[in-house]
Amino acid sequence: MRNVKVPLSLLARPERFGDQRDQDCLSGDLVIRAGKAVGLTAASEAEAPARLVLPRLTECHVHLDKCHTISRMEGVGGDLIAAIEAQAADRQNWTADDIRARAARGLDELISAGCGAIRSHVDWGAEISPLAPAPSWKVLCELVQEYQNKATVQLAALTGADDMADPEVADVIARQVASAGGVLGVFILDHLGRREGIRNAFAVAEKYQLALDFHVDEGLKPGLDGLDIIADEAMRTGFQGPVLCGHACSLMNIGTDALKPLAEKLARAGVAVACLPSSNLYLQGRGDGTPDRRGLTRVRELLDAGVRVLAGTDNVRDAFCPLGRHDPLHSLALAALAAHLDPPYGQFLPMITTNAEHALGLAPTYVDGAAIGDLLLFDAATTPDLLAGGGAPLALADAIKGELQ
Ligand SMILES: [Zn+2]
Repeated sequence: MRNVKVPLSLLARPERFGDQRDQDCLSGDLVIRAGKAVGLTAASEAEAPARLVLPRLTECHVHLDKCHTISRMEGVGGDLIAAIEAQAADRQNWTADDIRARAARGLDELISAGCGAIRSHVDWGAEISPLAPAPSWKVLCELVQEYQNKATVQLAALTGADDMADPEVADVIARQVASAGGVLGVFILDHLGRREGIRNAFAVAEKYQLALDFHVDEGLKPGLDGLDIIADEAMRTGFQGPVLCGHACSLMNIGTDALKPLAEKLARAGVAVACLPSSNLYLQGRGDGTPDRRGLTRVRELLDAGVRVLAGTDNVRDAFCPLGRHDPLHSLALAALAAHLDPPYGQFLPMITTNAEHALGLAPTYVDGAAIGDLLLFDAATTPDLLAGGGAPLALADAIKGELQ
């Protein structure tokens, strides 16, 4: 493949892959041997700008049961609690056909944006009982099967901390999640039972070998301590499965002195944190006028402490975020602006690729040695071009077929 660039951050052994450095990338002609990317040679005469080669992207956090509902809602606006109420009111429209059509649209959008791995949360709990899954769970499980040749899709059951505080409820839910091959998710805010809920989540995750995924501290009010409890529990139990914490907005309330030991504890415990800029910017820091606070987690300080930090898309066109796009590059670009992540941007690409795969319990895909079926070609000559958005990527395998013709 002529005249491409590969971000250094997405190579396991950059020193062995090529020697033409171009800012945060290596450049040259991509050598493919036995269906795998093996290196870059000096670029041949180029008629067109270079294009970027990346592994397929990973979307660590969406809500396919809720997406694409905004157009039928009225009077939406407000904070997280208002969004929860507005979304609950929309549930009367959630027939199996409605859920399937919206979720399939979301999956198609993610796959055309380049995703090879996707984790979606799905609200758990039927109206009659927290023990049984919502009807959307079954629909999403069927869709995952239908899409298995297109992408790896993980479903995280989104339960509530107070329900999980009951050990028997936690056990019944975890057993069902395990039988569906799912991930155990828990929503943790200022629930009275949050400490017990977290403790039980770790216990049943260990028992049923589940990955954990928390919506935690999604607020800016003082006193939210879920992330700290999770870090302590991960350390205390020595839990080996992946633990991902989304949001962690309340870190914005913590001064540098208190933040450093918490961030270091998260790094030691191997707990990953997902920054979810679109929903946070929309819902957090609401007052009467224009917001003067950002609801993001402390991306830069967590990265500095060695925490595995990801960028995710979260809600797309629902009560939690009336806008949004199912595209990890778009989410990373938004995080870069909102959290002041400065160029070179190549260093942040693991947030939507290798580090995100690791946090989801998947093997990271580096470009060197990757099968061409796992690689994408983006019509972008630099990493700022890439993040600014230049259209849908091509599968590298298809692009090569085009060159050979
Ligand atoms: Zn979420």
